[in-house]
Amino acid sequence: MKVLVLGGTAEARSLAAALVDDGVDVTTSLAGRVAEPRLPVGAVRVGGFGGVAGLAAYARDFDAIVDATHPFAAQISAHAAAACDDVPLLRLQRPGWADRSAPAWVWVDDHDAAAAAAAELGERPFLTVGRQALGRFTGPLAGASVLVRVVDDPEVALPDTWEVLRDRGPYALEDETALMQGHDADVLVTKDSGGDHTWPKMQAAAGLRIPVVVVRRPSTPAGVTTVSGVDDAVRWVRSRPAPRPRPAAPAGGPG
Ligand code: NAP
Repeated sequence: MKVLVLGGTAEARSLAAALVDDGVDVTTSLAGRVAEPRLPVGAVRVGGFGGVAGLAAYARDFDAIVDATHPFAAQISAHAAAACDDVPLLRLQRPGWADRSAPAWVWVDDHDAAAAAAAELGERPFLTVGRQALGRFTGPLAGASVLVRVVDDPEVALPDTWEVLRDRGPYALEDETALMQGHDADVLVTKDSGGDHTWPKMQAAAGLRIPVVVVRRPSTPAGVTTVSGVDDAVRWVRSRPAPRPRPAAPAGGPG
């Protein structure tokens, strides 16, 4: 059984480990955005496929694909849904935080709305939306004292009043509380990434009575079987029919 995992998340790494334990031949695909990614067990390939056609061609070599990318990686999920006509596709997506929402949370549809809401709610935001979205905040929060947390250095120029903290989760509640207190943060801005790895910042904000601006998740492609946990994804892989026979590799070598 050969499985392609579209990765870049903790769930993708857990899934790769579980499948390798099961004797599955796993290849995890990473986009290559992070300078020093946490690598999963099994084979790893890095970089884009070159759109839907490239992914479709690459996918033909596999018996199943699990799209375990981040909930906000909407393009690769759409590409997977479009590319996987011939190969079974499963979406593994961790549950969002909507069920845990609190009165102090302000839900918005996108990063522009998040920037506007943060500018209205505070002067010392703690910004945790990831590096790629920062350009959407620099204008509306140009005069604010922003603490921005990212894994890798931002690619856009940031206002002088912004402070960059390079770190990556998971984070502990007491550390998140100390960080927000140290910055004297008056609003937290986050995506609805979901799961438990970054949940302590939401608890810390609640404890400090700081409002939270939450960007809603992009919509997911219709018609793709979806599970929310790694165990369910492992069961799905186990339930796949026996692998299709593949044409033998051409015999012979150089000369
Ligand atoms: P995206 O906007 O959905 O995808 C943009 C393009 O990047 C895709 O069309 C594809 O290029 C390439 N790509 C994305 N994920 C890939 C993967 N796993 N393997 C190979 N190519 C991939 O993606 P993104 O939001 O930039 O996220 C990139 C990666 O970071 C994903 O693996 C995701 O799981 C991880 N991540 C994202 C976030 C986030 O907030 N977006 C947070 C944490 C981790 P081609 O069209 O050339 O194939």
